[in-house]
Amino acid sequence: MTVIRVGHLYPDYLNIYADRGNIAVLTRRAAWRGHELEVTAIAMGDQVTPGEHDLYYVGGGQDREQLLVAEDLLGKAQALHEAVAEGAAVLAVCGGYQLLGRGYRGFHGENMPGIGLLPLETVAGEPRMIGDVLIECELRPGEQRTLAGFENHAGRTHLDLDAEPLGRVLAGFGNDGQSGFEGCRSGRVVGTYLHGPLLPRNAWLADWLLEQALAHRLGIGEAPELEPLPDGLESRAHEVSAARARARGGRFD
Ligand code: GLN
Repeated sequence: MTVIRVGHLYPDYLNIYADRGNIAVLTRRAAWRGHELEVTAIAMGDQVTPGEHDLYYVGGGQDREQLLVAEDLLGKAQALHEAVAEGAAVLAVCGGYQLLGRGYRGFHGENMPGIGLLPLETVAGEPRMIGDVLIECELRPGEQRTLAGFENHAGRTHLDLDAEPLGRVLAGFGNDGQSGFEGCRSGRVVGTYLHGPLLPRNAWLADWLLEQALAHRLGIGEAPELEPLPDGLESRAHEVSAARARARGGRFD
């Protein structure tokens, strides 16, 4: 049994569309493999100590909530960079994803600093990009998987030219509704616009994150493979969500 330590950033502020449900999925899937997930809230004013957590998680929120946490997050930037350099994994959703880039200009022109963990910038625009979304990813070379979820964002996220998107949009808007990219990935850091929450519909990504966190915890470079679970219901949830995105995923007319 391994204890996997998760640092949940700003659970009181960034939890739109029940994003904290992602933590519930990680906890159960770890437990089913005999591991324990120890989740600590990292709130406003709390310190981040590199090495203390194997996985950091930050959810989404409205511009208002993002504005409230952005300055505080900046104070944690150096420690988070160190933690990631030492191999910690990160999952950031929507508002949290935007703040992992260099900055986000909100809908009313507010400039929010980002912590530069991901090579991207975000500027809010109109119309909001709302709807079901389906993307295709290849986190492990040669292994293509899909992620299904729901997006609702004003922010247009532009990746740097050499940035690695999390996936290609099959249906829906993605980062900006034009590039065909969704999310961003840098090593063990993953940012995405997908809510739903994300992990109940995409169990394979939960396992990938647990594997990265375990690799950090055990101090090994290569992530161990978790044994598969039956996942009948989880696959069904994914299929329903994917079909919905294919049928009615958002697009600019
Ligand atoms: N406030 C941000 C936007 O509108 C993020 C929204 C969200 O987290 N759903 O782009």
